[in-house]
Amino acid sequence: MEKYQMFIKGGWTNSSDYEIFPSINPFNQETWAEIPQATQNDADEAIKAARDAYESNWGKTNGITRANLMLKLADLIDENAKRMAKLETIDNGKVLGETKGQMHFAARNYRYFASFADKLTGETVPLDNQNMFDYTLREPIGVAVLISAWNSPIQTLTNKLAPALAAGNTVVIKPSEYTSVTTLELGKLIEQAGFPSGVVNIVTGDGRVGSMLTNSPDVNKISFTGGPVTGQKISETASRNLIPCTLELGGKSPNIIFDDANMENAITGAIAGIFAASGQTCIAGSRLLVQKTIYDEVISALKKRANEIRLGDPLDANIQMGPVANDTQFNKILSMINKGVEEGAKLIAGGEAAEEDELSKGYFIRPTVLADVGENMYIAQEEVFGPVLSVIPFDTEEDAIRIANNSKYGLASGVWTRNLSRAHQMAKKINAGTVWINTYRTSAAQATFGGVKNSGYGKERGIQSLLEYTQIKNIMIDLSEETRDPFSIKV
Ligand code: NAP
Repeated sequence: MEKYQMFIKGGWTNSSDYEIFPSINPFNQETWAEIPQATQNDADEAIKAARDAYESNWGKTNGITRANLMLKLADLIDENAKRMAKLETIDNGKVLGETKGQMHFAARNYRYFASFADKLTGETVPLDNQNMFDYTLREPIGVAVLISAWNSPIQTLTNKLAPALAAGNTVVIKPSEYTSVTTLELGKLIEQAGFPSGVVNIVTGDGRVGSMLTNSPDVNKISFTGGPVTGQKISETASRNLIPCTLELGGKSPNIIFDDANMENAITGAIAGIFAASGQTCIAGSRLLVQKTIYDEVISALKKRANEIRLGDPLDANIQMGPVANDTQFNKILSMINKGVEEGAKLIAGGEAAEEDELSKGYFIRPTVLADVGENMYIAQEEVFGPVLSVIPFDTEEDAIRIANNSKYGLASGVWTRNLSRAHQMAKKINAGTVWINTYRTSAAQATFGGVKNSGYGKERGIQSLLEYTQIKNIMIDLSEETRDPFSIKV
């Protein structure tokens, strides 16, 4: 049994009342780690440590100092990627290929944002009045609270932590109670890299701890990844405290196949979009829109490919799909599949738990394909967050756009076509933060990511996300020695 502590003010600590909770391996339902359940006192200590670090040293460091620490952290993540990936796989059941890739992606992100740390410049601003000199400074915001979800703990945290640190903020992190281990392991690497005490603090526990942190009056920025219901609460808190907030929420993303697409690639993109990571990704292409002229062909290919997916121990490199992350998810996904079938969707593959002996202790759900789904059905509108694909037929480009946009979400989307003009038209007309053309689920540190509508607001990755951890100060200097009339406006 691994026993973990929290990282506050550069030191490792238990919860102040010694309460702990278990981390459960979704492959065998065994408790494999103990995590501290933070108290209000711990949350306050962490915020105070971040505030002190911000005021005393970090807020005044130069960019190259921050960049060097981040580059050191990136090297440490790469060196530890195999070990960290294994821990993450044990914690949330994603296959090793995915978790290892996410570790290296995280390291790449720290390098990307480190390269901006000494380039956060302001501007000189020409004014009408030539005797006035005006310029801006781009400054950090202060103390940021970063809250992440269980499905990709290190990757979603990196999207927040790397730009926050590059811009000179200090942070308090709360990972999901289901997957705290790798975030705490990252804390050890942050310590090893030599970040000053209090710059990064990690407190663990359930949603109550997130609420303690976000409600603190001494927080200047919140960045949250999770579901829309929690996102709404956080947005209300941020607005009450008048602080900026970034929300990365759920999705019901359309992946659209036209009859002029490269069919092999499109089917592979559809499979990757929904069954990679057992469908537990915010960007899952969970609504597959297929042009009627190729509908039967696509359905039979999906059926074959879904049934061929290898389920098993996610630590086994041969396995393609692991269990879903916890019992709540497991039950919710099965009940949503049943609801889809009750509504009239046609079950083409999966639709049930996998109960072979070697899988029986894990939360395994077979890759599920529901065909003939109506665009307004519950299964077509609500996020499943599991390996369940809803296939919806369409006639024309206009139909595809209407169905794609018929969603309260707007996180990602995919378009498969060889028609260049159609590709650009679709990209313009789809209401989502990301449009992939002839690819799906492809990420890059440089490519800005973030949703619209109920998928949230604010951006992660790319330069735009860095700017969200900064604020602009305007400075105006009168170069003349003129005495002014106090009752007139000087322009
Ligand atoms: P969640 O239940 O909203 O939880 C997200 C995080 O918020 C967890 O750390 C959770 O702690 C914490 N939390 C819960 N209640 C809180 C409160 N009142 N105040 C502050 N924090 C609170 O979401 P989830 O089930 O972990 O994640 C799944 C959702 O995340 C899906 O909708 C998925 O699409 C979305 N997601 C979005 C992105 C993106 O980039 N857009 C990426 C990944 C996931 P506990 O877990 O300990 O309760």
